[in-house]
Amino acid sequence: CGIVGYAGGRPALGIVLDGLRRLEYRGYDSAGVAVICADELLTEKRAGKLANLEKALHERVAEDSDSQRCAQGGGIDTGTTAIGHTRWATHGGPTDRNAHPHTDPAGRVAVIHNGIIENFGKLRAELEADGVVFSSDTDTECAAHLLAGALARLRADGEQDGPRLLAEAMREVSRRLEGAFTLLAVDSAVPGAVVGARRNSPLVVGRGAGENYLASDVAAFIEHTREAIELGQDQVVLITADEIEITDFDGQPATGKDFHIDWDA
Ligand code: GLU
Repeated sequence: CGIVGYAGGRPALGIVLDGLRRLEYRGYDSAGVAVICADELLTEKRAGKLANLEKALHERVAEDSDSQRCAQGGGIDTGTTAIGHTRWATHGGPTDRNAHPHTDPAGRVAVIHNGIIENFGKLRAELEADGVVFSSDTDTECAAHLLAGALARLRADGEQDGPRLLAEAMREVSRRLEGAFTLLAVDSAVPGAVVGARRNSPLVVGRGAGENYLASDVAAFIEHTREAIELGQDQVVLITADEIEITDFDGQPATGKDFHIDWDA
């Protein structure tokens, strides 16, 4: 229901949680975040209010349980790339396991999603026939497995790793999905990048200085920047701290609609 992404130089967790709070008015039943910390993907998700997620995160930070996994010496609160989601369940009940983000079994890729993937049943059956084990009842999870599969294939083909590889994998996935989606994804092997895609569901970019934002609604980032880009139908966007790259689902360069937010949120 609410979607926020950040790539920049500041600790991302607080920024993403603030953004989710700004989107709370839309209603939701669960919330979750994924943070890239050094080259680890760290996720936390909970059914219920944002306060439930925040409590879990506070406990995690207090226990410092990630510190040994994170080269920067900090935990989930120190990574500078993150995505966050508030969910309004359509497929699968409002439980911890159905909350977003959804990850691949290796725990490298995380995906959040607004909308409904109408052909998820067929995609899930195909993935299961290939031996993929699902860990939720959502339509969204198939996108995480498809993305991980696309990335693995591109890497096996010797494509150069990095943010553009993540965008290419997202384009492959987007071409396979039917229905309505705003998707954001991160890959622990591509720290510093967030990729987004949209069809029949909104996605806006917030352009900052040395940092960029993605969100389902400008309210999520309006306190940080008022320079925004509204993505067009069937577009993929890649953000890093210094770059915003927009293409269509086939990889052709595309442009969104630039605008300045001159109202008060
Ligand atoms: N269809 C997805 C789910 O049920 C996303 C719902 C939403 O837009 O929050 O998990």
